[in-house]
Amino acid sequence: MKVLKFGGTSVATPGSIRKVKAIVESQQEPVVVVVSALGGVTDELVRIAALAEAADPAYLDGLAALRERHIAMCEELLGAAQAAALRTSVEALLDELEGICRGVFLLKVLPEKTRNQILSFGERLSSRIVTAAVGNAELYDALDFIRVDDGRVDFAATGELARKHFAGYGPASPVAICPGFIARDKGGDIVTLGRGGSDYSASILAEALDASVLEIWTDVDGFMSADPRIIKTAYVIDELTYEEATELCNFGAKVVYPPTLYPVCRKRIPIRVKNTFNPSAPGTLIRDARPDRQSDRIIKGISSIDNISLITIFATSLMGIIGVDQRIFSALAGEGINVFLVSQSASETGLSIGVRMADAEKACAVLDRTFAVEIAGGGVQSVRREDELAAIAIVGENMRNNCGVAGKLFSILGKNGISIIACAQGASESNISFVVERKYLRKSLNVIHDGFNLSEYKEMNLIICGVGTVGGQLIEQIAQQQERLKQRRNLKINVVGIARSTRGVFDHDGIDLSTWKEALSAGKVLDADGLKEAVLGMNIFNAVFVDCTASESVAAMYEDFFNHGISVVAANKVAASSDYQNYRNLKKTARRRGVKFLFETNAGAGLPIINTINSLRNSGDHIRKIEAVLSGTLNFIFNTISATVPFSETVRQAKEQGYAEPDPRIDLSGKDVIRKLVILSREAGYEVSQEDVEAEPFIPREFFNCTLEEFWQKLPSLDADFEERRLELEKEHMRWRFVATMDEGKFNVALRTIDEHHCFYNLEGSNNIVLLTTDRYHDHPMQIQGYGAGASVTAAGVFADIISIANVSN
Ligand code: ADP
Ligand code: ASP
Ligand code: MG
Repeated sequence: MKVLKFGGTSVATPGSIRKVKAIVESQQEPVVVVVSALGGVTDELVRIAALAEAADPAYLDGLAALRERHIAMCEELLGAAQAAALRTSVEALLDELEGICRGVFLLKVLPEKTRNQILSFGERLSSRIVTAAVGNAELYDALDFIRVDDGRVDFAATGELARKHFAGYGPASPVAICPGFIARDKGGDIVTLGRGGSDYSASILAEALDASVLEIWTDVDGFMSADPRIIKTAYVIDELTYEEATELCNFGAKVVYPPTLYPVCRKRIPIRVKNTFNPSAPGTLIRDARPDRQSDRIIKGISSIDNISLITIFATSLMGIIGVDQRIFSALAGEGINVFLVSQSASETGLSIGVRMADAEKACAVLDRTFAVEIAGGGVQSVRREDELAAIAIVGENMRNNCGVAGKLFSILGKNGISIIACAQGASESNISFVVERKYLRKSLNVIHDGFNLSEYKEMNLIICGVGTVGGQLIEQIAQQQERLKQRRNLKINVVGIARSTRGVFDHDGIDLSTWKEALSAGKVLDADGLKEAVLGMNIFNAVFVDCTASESVAAMYEDFFNHGISVVAANKVAASSDYQNYRNLKKTARRRGVKFLFETNAGAGLPIINTINSLRNSGDHIRKIEAVLSGTLNFIFNTISATVPFSETVRQAKEQGYAEPDPRIDLSGKDVIRKLVILSREAGYEVSQEDVEAEPFIPREFFNCTLEEFWQKLPSLDADFEERRLELEKEHMRWRFVATMDEGKFNVALRTIDEHHCFYNLEGSNNIVLLTTDRYHDHPMQIQGYGAGASVTAAGVFADIISIANVSN
């Protein structure tokens, strides 16, 4: 025989009750069916009872709505004659409920007994409706056989009564339908088994009747690796041991009510969690430990309890106080306060306990009373309380066989800027519980789920700032690659924020990249501070801030981002070329925080120059000299200038083709190349700032002191001189190249004339080239050459930096 329990969502609508009917009627062996109240009804009864107690006549509206819902259910499910019979019994129950509520309303008191009675109507109503809906079924009233004594289920009495009621129950019997959640105490009063208690009723019956399995039918495909309402990538666990399930349920996994595990576990009856709305899915099997098919996963699941307080008893030494733990726990138990986490230092100078926030005040008061003498005597300094916390448990019996789980857990959290306020690991080593600030709950669950490979995909959350040519291209490239990365590399890239100088749009679940422009236009208005706050306030995990601006105020945010566990990929050159101490400090902070600061595109667009320099240095090489053409704009200009295209025209074309900076003078002055040389030299190990670079301007100073408009007007005045010099060069088979040089600590940028035998001579279009002379590459320098400008290669370089942070392998 099997026991099947259908939860509130499985009996919420006529459609779902029809599904229940189909599942029950298709069973091959005898089944006992336990049902919850129609979805949401118990909550509604709680509310109605409170209104009545407060003498608020609105309780009547609540009752009227309940009446309407139950009657409509009868009528929609059944034919007219059957509905009329059912309606009579349903109306009788509703009248009784209304009478009790009226009593509460008049007396303005709601004793526990009366409250339980009111709550019992949900299941009493639903079980009658389901009995009528299922073909050939009979109502078995739990009030007749589930017994509670002093707040606990009396298993002996219940077993005896249940077996009596179900004597002779077999394949030929009508299907037994039984209300969950409710029972009677010794005095004959109705009691309830706690919210979610129908699961428990079903387990009690399964044990009493020696069922072969207890099936919990709900609205998800099974027991999941984390709460699916918080973790989008949570998946169904195929098997759990009783111990694992107990740990997860005790820590908030709502899918099974915690006491449920105990009766069935005692008799080794397996539980299967199944989906009423997807009955063919295999669900989750909970039973004794067996060889584990998902054993490569160290942890099975994560659960959490929101809204907790941590109460810490501080003492110079609790050692001298005998039986202190016993006194603490007895005092709290005496007040009915549930403690679900205890953390004590070995020195016994403090003991922290986790309780629900709603219990915290009472807990502090009772502890103050309990230790009044010690507090007065100074042995105990204080009882302090910290609110707005959340507790999280990671669970898996496999943790026992693996070293370093706690280390990994703490490092994952630390890297994401989440600090642990208290922690506890049971001796069974199948659970590590810890407390974090409440605001980090979602992020903590996500980073753990991701970090312990519980997710099918590794997730990465990007905030892209700057949507000009590079940022815009990057978003397009991500949109094109998103699906492939997910399928082939198990990497899910979510763009959770997009911002430009005045606006930003943010969405935890990822912005739809096919409509990002509209979303950004409708986004919120932001200044720099607003942007920083919005990014930090999102509290996202595996976060990367992508800076595609040229803004100093954005570069000034990096340090805060690092300190909050956010990596930075910058196309923006400001930070890496800024004051040397600032650059060092940023690198140091990123390293200390375990996040990345990458800016490969700061020189040579997508070319792997910085990566190469880093690899050489990391393997012990020394960079002696860098010679490079690093300005795509200037190279384009000196490759385009000709008898027919004068100098001023080449500058204009460079601008139009998107190579030049918005103000091309940043290129023409050599400033952009200076910044690039500084960045490369720093990465090569030299302490250098922009002022240390000797620059030889090739355009008169007055061109830089006027407005941009005047500059464009004056520019053609240089054409004749350039043409004259160009003709001379042509005769000598030479070309101009704007060359940056670092030679053992000497830095220079200048427009040079290059003869036809030099490798810079044939550098086409806007290409860049870098020659690295090192201890290993001395006679023939290492050469890196290719497109050095352009939005799409730069965006691709930024993308490559982003992917390198995700660290996905082929
Ligand atoms: P029922 O009405 O069937 O008793 P509940 O609402 O009590 O259903 O429990 C099922 C819900 O529990 C799911 O819809 C899901 O949102 C939530 N839940 C929380 N944690 C988990 C988890 N680890 N696995 C599955 N569901 C979970
Ligand atoms: N109806 C009860 C509740 O909502 C019991 C249950 O659904 O398990 O708590
Ligand atoms: Mg439930």
